[in-house]
Amino acid sequence: MSLADRIKDKSLFREEALIGGEWVGGEGGKTFAVTNPANGQTIANIADVGEKGALEAVSAATEAFERWKKTRANDRAAILRKWYDLILANQDDLASLITAEMGKPFAQAKGEVVYAADFVEWYAEEAKRSHGETLSSPWPDARVMTLQQPIGVVAAITPWNFPAGMITRKVAPALAAGCCAVVKPAPETPLTALALAKLAEDAGLPPGVMNVVTGEAANIGPVLTGDPRIRMLGFTGSTEIGKLLMRQSADTVKKVALELGGNAPFIVMDDADLESAAAGAILAKYRVSGQVCVAANRLLVQRGVADKFVEVLKAKVEAIKVGDGFEDGIDMGPLVHEEAVGRVEGLVREASDAGASIAAGGARLDREGAFFAPTLIDNATPDMSIVKNEIFGPVLSVMRFDDEEEAIRIANDTPYGLAGYIYTRDVGRVHRLAEALEYGMVGVNVPLVGSSSTPFGGVKQSGIGREGGRWGMEEFQETKLIVLGGIGS
Ligand code: ADP
Repeated sequence: MSLADRIKDKSLFREEALIGGEWVGGEGGKTFAVTNPANGQTIANIADVGEKGALEAVSAATEAFERWKKTRANDRAAILRKWYDLILANQDDLASLITAEMGKPFAQAKGEVVYAADFVEWYAEEAKRSHGETLSSPWPDARVMTLQQPIGVVAAITPWNFPAGMITRKVAPALAAGCCAVVKPAPETPLTALALAKLAEDAGLPPGVMNVVTGEAANIGPVLTGDPRIRMLGFTGSTEIGKLLMRQSADTVKKVALELGGNAPFIVMDDADLESAAAGAILAKYRVSGQVCVAANRLLVQRGVADKFVEVLKAKVEAIKVGDGFEDGIDMGPLVHEEAVGRVEGLVREASDAGASIAAGGARLDREGAFFAPTLIDNATPDMSIVKNEIFGPVLSVMRFDDEEEAIRIANDTPYGLAGYIYTRDVGRVHRLAEALEYGMVGVNVPLVGSSSTPFGGVKQSGIGREGGRWGMEEFQETKLIVLGGIGS
């Protein structure tokens, strides 16, 4: 049955997760509701597989790994390529699920599906290119080589802001490397995950190679971090939960790849093209309602151009069209849920009480759903919570600085280090700033930094490891050394 048929007859919305190739119900029939943040309505009730389901998925993946690791890279590549084709063929249906579950505008959801599919295509190709090496030998009577072997069964714990992309960015390289995966999607967005798994099944992925366990994180998480059969954990989410999972993974010395929170500086120097910098800031901040780990969180503008820049930016912020993601011409949807609106509201109120000025927006929208106005805050200072914390909402705070050194000092004054952005036309400044910023990714005169071929990841408390490109594949591989003696005998 096609994905569209399964959405239409609601069989995708039945209370089923995918374990060992079987679509199974929740532990004791337990379910949880998935709601549309644009109107609060329940879209589906989904299986909560609990600890028991998580254990079964780990067992199924362990069993499947014995066969999958022995498959030819070309055969794994062929299945991944088919999965890629099916994801693109079902782009609209997948995008509808994304918009319904987490609210982003339909056009952006379609863009996410392409972004997600790109990783599957990239790693289908990468599967065939990955190889070990023959090294020059330190011993005259021996030869030395390395193998790139799959690390084993891996767990992928993913967030709701990119319900498709955060799964393929982990699962595609894992499967390409010969690993099997147990995916735990965010409770807000299980439908996209289940639909992707359905398409992988249709592409011919053998049972147990990719499992999806839905339900309460507090029950499933400890199984995935504590079970010694899981050799690696790939996680995207908050720094707080990342630290918890890292601690829980310590007892079994699991490898971890963590993509955690950010507090991205967006630096505008006085020689920048202000129009282009303002357009960039809009994309870097307000896409997905600011609920992106690489979203610009602090806008640092050189004092001489600050008033002018704020004026240009304010006009653009006020022009953002907010609404239900399924409406035409919408730039920004709701936040993921009501709690998120409350949190953002609190941060804005605190900043305003502390002396910041609200240049645009500043309040929740007077309509049904989890909507907050696109907001621009001026005259923010480094001690404000809105500057120190990851906002994860459509609010950008402006701070002024005098020179490069001050910009670098403010930008690096955070425990986070995921993405940073610089706008300048001076090549000397580009190099000095890009090298001095303590961030895993720096965008220079561009507001977007992620793609299937490039390394995505952070430094400091923003994470460990990289996703994308050859770096993303290496996370799922062990390098084995073989020293082959007997040459001289
Ligand atoms: P957010 O606050 O943006 O939802 P989280 O870090 O809480 O970010 O969630 C990211 C992912 O981590 C989701 O899949 C969520 O269910 C999962 N998660 C949350 N708490 C735990 C936990 N204690 N153990 C395992 N996974 C968890």
